[in-house]
Amino acid sequence: VCPTAALTEVYHVDKVWEALNDPDKHVIVQTAPAIRVALGELFGMEAGTIVTGKMVTALKRMGFDGVFDTDFGADLTIMEEASELIYRIKNNKTLPILTNCCPAWVKFIEHQFPELLHVPSTCKSPHIMFGTIAKTYYAEKNGIDPDNIVVVSIMPCIAKKAEAKRPELTKDEHNNVDIVITTRELGAMIKEAGIEFDRLPDSEFDRPLGETTGASVIFGTAGGVIEAAVRTAYEWMTGETLENVEFEQLRGMEGIRKATVKIGDQELKIGIASGLGNARVILEEIREGKADYHAIEIMACPGGCIGGGGQPYHHGNHEIVKKRREAIYEEDRNKKIRKSHENKEILELYREYLGEPFGELAHKLLHTHFEERERI
Ligand code: SF4
Repeated sequence: VCPTAALTEVYHVDKVWEALNDPDKHVIVQTAPAIRVALGELFGMEAGTIVTGKMVTALKRMGFDGVFDTDFGADLTIMEEASELIYRIKNNKTLPILTNCCPAWVKFIEHQFPELLHVPSTCKSPHIMFGTIAKTYYAEKNGIDPDNIVVVSIMPCIAKKAEAKRPELTKDEHNNVDIVITTRELGAMIKEAGIEFDRLPDSEFDRPLGETTGASVIFGTAGGVIEAAVRTAYEWMTGETLENVEFEQLRGMEGIRKATVKIGDQELKIGIASGLGNARVILEEIREGKADYHAIEIMACPGGCIGGGGQPYHHGNHEIVKKRREAIYEEDRNKKIRKSHENKEILELYREYLGEPFGELAHKLLHTHFEERERI
């Protein structure tokens, strides 16, 4: 991972097997959007092959008690983040709002730009939101003691391992997410289990908490989080149906992109940065008062999570990242529902448990805060 060997990637596959072999534990797993378009590469498939169904089958055969999709957490993130954006616009609160799904960039701003910590959205990231709902709503609904639930996140990302351990992201001193493994670690587990991945039939994610939308899938690529938020904010701000959900101006592989989206009478100015060098450029603009954005998405990995540090190695081959990205957009096009606020299981979750988006309980469970950390 680190060319000077100052940092070593820590593997957690043994912890997952240990949990799966413990009869007292209810072990559930969630998979991030970017995994499904890259996992196949570890089994000789073309980059960008969509293996969602095979991946779910493999996880079920390995013995998980529930196989879920972090995309559900992404839809939930949009419900909260779009609400927060609209709240800030209507109440003349701090703008721009910065998306904060990426723990590497969150750590970056905490160390490098502590004077801007009021700017990011307070939403937890999608897999942490999912873990929180698993240890509360899901536990209550299924009559399971949350202490006996083990939530495993499969992420394209090594930084998510550290994120899951942040004290402010735990509930009652327990982690919302107990173990994080990467796409590469999942590939190793499938091989250890002796599963012939390429011959697997497809399966569906478990329900409830399994319904997802095209908006949540595109979280896997740079620009996707902000596009998903705009799909919802558009309809909530105008009361009109958004017919074309694809915002081409928010898509592309450039490290910094600036775009304007018209929402009713409002011109929403949006910035997108991927790669921390590009994030620094945008954050310096904000610090110097030169930025006139309403919303900004930042991802630490160039291209977003499809090119994440836990994915199959692409050795700088951008064609591989491009193919994964095209597959993400194909998954979005294949979805019947493409807006987060139309996810029926999300709406049921608010109706049955959370109340209003951005309301009191949602705030308590789904939002977080940031801390100044020593400059390094
Ligand atoms: Fe992790 Fe990279 Fe995605 Fe950030 S962009 S969440 S560091 S994989």
